[in-house]
Amino acid sequence: MKPMLIDGGLDPADEAYAAQFVERLLKAAITAGASDVHLQPQADRLLVRWRLDGVLQPVGEFPRGRRADVVTRLKVMAGLLTYRTEVPQEGRVRAEWLANAKKESSGTDPRSADSWPEMRVSTFPTIHGERAVVRFFSGKGRWERVEQLGFDTDVTEALCTSLSATSGALVVCGPAGSGKTTTVYACLSEILARDGGARSLVTLEDPVEQVLPGVSQSQIAPEAGFDFATGVRSLMRQDPDVILIGEIRDRATVEAALTASLSGHLVLTTFHAGSAAEAVTRLADMGVEPYALRSGLRAVLSQRLLRILCACSQTTREPALLAGFPLTSARIATGCPDCYHSGYRGRRPIGEWLEIDHEGIAPAVLARSDTETLARRAQAAGFTSLLERACQAIQTGWTSPQEVRRVLGWRASWQ
Ligand SMILES: [Zn+2]
Repeated sequence: MKPMLIDGGLDPADEAYAAQFVERLLKAAITAGASDVHLQPQADRLLVRWRLDGVLQPVGEFPRGRRADVVTRLKVMAGLLTYRTEVPQEGRVRAEWLANAKKESSGTDPRSADSWPEMRVSTFPTIHGERAVVRFFSGKGRWERVEQLGFDTDVTEALCTSLSATSGALVVCGPAGSGKTTTVYACLSEILARDGGARSLVTLEDPVEQVLPGVSQSQIAPEAGFDFATGVRSLMRQDPDVILIGEIRDRATVEAALTASLSGHLVLTTFHAGSAAEAVTRLADMGVEPYALRSGLRAVLSQRLLRILCACSQTTREPALLAGFPLTSARIATGCPDCYHSGYRGRRPIGEWLEIDHEGIAPAVLARSDTETLARRAQAAGFTSLLERACQAIQTGWTSPQEVRRVLGWRASWQ
């Protein structure tokens, strides 16, 4: 992408340069579907990048000079102290600015009137001046049904079936940025869509990332003694049917979650783990009694997000480009203006689904088996691993071997 796209026709000597530059940059980022914009000052220029589908991409480099005002402009929009440049700051872009931008853009393009999402600006002092990151928040739920997430059909069905259960805990795991939160939010929306108001839905989050109408959402405040574990115990007196616990971080939380799940509540939560089998063993390592895991945990979904190849992708038979996958050909990324030369457009999840109440799995959980043993048992019981799902995705042609390696790493190999 050429820098021209952002400041073409703008005069850096003009007073209004920074304001115009920022508006164009933010509009372009929103149009492209970026999640963050990074403005990084260097000795003589301002480096602009944005994160598209989870990957940081260069947008352009601009000589410094008046352009240093660009970060100041963002600080003004977010109500930050412009004269404090030596400390990190953060704030939301103020409502007046957003309202104004909406009004202006609605005059020319009615569709873009609602397209300004909530934005948060954070600054950080560096040796070359302040660096700024703008983060976009979509605000309302993008996914209203589990089916829309894009998992393979069998995973979608298993997930939907488990949501009609009236007890048990469902753990969604993966590293940061693997889409766990999106999945649990879609699960809540799915329950709402199916049951209407027939079930009482409550959440404990840190932070609340999306507002879901019909769900009673709470932000925990550990400094006031209101953490996940105490929150779950207090919620028991609020007669809930479904409880979302933002994340399991300690033994107290997992014990509270399992107690709730064993006493007739459907518990949804997320956990930081590399695979479904690893999640089970790590929960056990936290000191949870095996029988509580065996009976309280219903299923674990381990997931990753893979970028979807753009229509400009090409077929290759080059062994080096197959990245060690047992295939004879694959689609690989090239790049065109439509995909901002990244070769990809959008992302889709892949997931491995491990049901605990299975004759091959339950005894292994009770016996405190290690991750490898559990993974082998799962394999024998016919579970499809993330790597197998990824390989199927390459075969289908919606993603590339390089993308799978980027996300799953090179250590993942075929036994
Ligand atoms: Zn393309």
